[in-house]
Amino acid sequence: IVRMNKLNKHFGDFHVLQDIDLRVATGEVVVVIGASGSGKSTLIRCVNGLEEFQQGELDVDDSPLLPYGKATQALQKIRTEVGMVFQQFNLFPHLSVLDNVILAPMKVRGQDRETAVATGERLLERVGISDQIHKYPTQLSGGQQQRVALARALAMEPRLMLFDEPTSALDPEMIGEVLDAMRELANDGMTMMIVTHEMGFAREVADRVIFIDKGRIVEEGPPETIFDQPVEAATQSFLSRVL
Ligand code: ATP
Ligand code: MG
Repeated sequence: IVRMNKLNKHFGDFHVLQDIDLRVATGEVVVVIGASGSGKSTLIRCVNGLEEFQQGELDVDDSPLLPYGKATQALQKIRTEVGMVFQQFNLFPHLSVLDNVILAPMKVRGQDRETAVATGERLLERVGISDQIHKYPTQLSGGQQQRVALARALAMEPRLMLFDEPTSALDPEMIGEVLDAMRELANDGMTMMIVTHEMGFAREVADRVIFIDKGRIVEEGPPETIFDQPVEAATQSFLSRVL
């Protein structure tokens, strides 16, 4: 569902992504790891057009995104098909939990309120928030807010979910509940690209782990190989610091 060929991106003089070749198949769970500043966020933000790139090819669900962020119908389509959960939950503070979840399906997908509410309630139940749906985001814990953010993304029926360090802003005791919800989603067959520092979780859910260093994919493979038998020195050095 994602195909990157020799993708290159610069921030001014800084070559942040270098010749990235990457495929993600439908149903696959790909975890991206690497040091701070290596380009992980930039990489996954390219996938839904939040960052533009300058050279190379990027197709998402067979729609090509063009260099320099050229607005196309494909970009619109991709934005509705790709869900994203960030480190910061980015919920709308003035809307209730339920209204946060039904807003985009009604506005973007044109669902009627009844349909959107039925779906929203089901998704909020699935992430374990069904008793809080009339509260406002500030009345919830960080872990609960992040699960609402997940339900909100799922309400758009995405074909692909992107996660950028979804548990990094959470207190330790709330990390597990968010990872559990993500694990369940993975088990249900969702296609996912996940940037995380939770190496135990990565090992458990990833079909494939990608290690990036200074804007390049240095090594990739099944989690057992990357974590237990990394070949590249940069991978070994990174893992020795984080494991
Ligand atoms: P972290 O683990 O800290 O989140 P990351 O791997 O996600 O790091 P990125 O956020 O992708 O790293 O950033 C990669 C590099 O690009 C960093 O050196 C960063 O300073 C730089 N960078 C990111 N965004 C911009 C921007 N808008 N303008 C200029 N440089 C940027
Ligand atoms: Mg980042």
